[in-house]
Amino acid sequence: RKGNVIITGASSGLGLATAKALAETGEWHVIMACRNFLKAEKAAKSVGITKESYSVMHLDLASLESVRQFANTFRRSGRPLDALVCNAAVYLPTAKEPTYTAEGFELSVGTNHLGHFLLARLLLDDLKQSDYPYKRLIIVGSITGNTNTLAGNVPPKANLGDLRGLAGGLNGIQSSAMIDGGDFDGAKAYKDSKVCNMLTMQEFHRRYHEETGITFASLYPGCIATTGLFREHIPLFRLLFPPFQKYITKGYVSEEEAGGRLAQVVSDPSLTKSGVYWSWNKNSESFENQLSKEASDAEKARKLWEVSEKLVGLA
Ligand code: NDP
Repeated sequence: RKGNVIITGASSGLGLATAKALAETGEWHVIMACRNFLKAEKAAKSVGITKESYSVMHLDLASLESVRQFANTFRRSGRPLDALVCNAAVYLPTAKEPTYTAEGFELSVGTNHLGHFLLARLLLDDLKQSDYPYKRLIIVGSITGNTNTLAGNVPPKANLGDLRGLAGGLNGIQSSAMIDGGDFDGAKAYKDSKVCNMLTMQEFHRRYHEETGITFASLYPGCIATTGLFREHIPLFRLLFPPFQKYITKGYVSEEEAGGRLAQVVSDPSLTKSGVYWSWNKNSESFENQLSKEASDAEKARKLWEVSEKLVGLA
C-alpha cells in the first residue's frame, strides 16, 4: 500500500514542495492539513499533484479545538498514519503588539509550538499502530533558533529563559506574551517557537522512541528566502533577502530543493536514526547537525513538555 503522510501547512512554501515531492514518488498519499481549504486545493493543482495522491483536511493550528477535531476526523477517515510532518508556521517580525490564538496564547508560539505539540501528542498512537516499514514524526526546525550559528546570532536571539511567560499562559494579561517573560518581540517569538520545536522533537525521542519504534527528527532545510514566511516583513526586506541569501550567505535553497530535503527525511529508508536534527552541506548531502546549548538542553525540554501539556489540556 501507499504510505500516508500528514503535512501541516502544505498550502504553500516548504510544505507544498514536500507534498509534491512525496506525491510524485507514487508511494505516498499526502494529507494536506491546512487552514484554508480552497487555497490548499488550488495550490495542489497549481503544482500538478494528481487528484488521487492527496486530500485536503481542515486544520487551524491557532485553535486547539480545531486540532482535536482534525485528529478525530483523520481517525474517522480510516487511513493508517505512517508519517506526520509538523511544518506550518507563522512569522510576525514587524508586529508591534502580540496577537493571540483562539485560546489566548501568543500567536507564533501558539501556532508553531503549542498547536503542533497537541497534534503530535494526539496522533502518536495512530503512528504507533502503523505497520509501515518505518514511521516518522518530523518537526521542522530552523537555524534561527540555534545560537551556535551565525544566523542564530542575529538579534533578537532565541531565549526561553526559565519559561515563566509560558508557564503563566503566554496571554499578555496575567503573564508576558513571551516565553521568557520579556517584552513582546515578534521575531524573537518565532525563534523561540523554533527552539520549542527542536526541544519537543528530542523529548519525544527520549520518551517514545524505544517503546514505539517511531523515528523522531527535525531539520533545517536551508534558507528558502522566497516562501510566504516573509510575507509580513517590510517590502525592502522581501526584495533584498533572496539575493542576499543567494550571493552573500550562499545559504539559499529553492522551494523545490528544500521540499526534496524534507521529503527525504520522511521517506529515505536510510534516514531512520531518531532524535536527529538534519542539515545539508554544499553538495546537498544530509548530515546530523549540532544544536545550540539551549536547543539541546534536556532539562529544559522536559520542563517545556510539562508546561505545554498543561496549556493544551493534556495534564
Ligand atoms: P510559508 O509561509 O510559505 O508556509 C507556512 C504554512 O503554514 C502555510 O501553508 C500557512 O497556511 C501555514 N499556517 C500558518 N498558520 C497556520 C495555522 N494557524 N493553521 C494551519 N496552517 C497554518 O512558510 P515556509 O514554507 O517557509 O515555512 C514552512 C516551515 O519551514 C516553517 O516551520 C518554518 O519555520 C520553516 N523554515 C523556513 C525557512 C525559510 O527560509 N523559509 C527556513 C527554516 C525553516 P496559509 O497558506 O493558509 O497561510
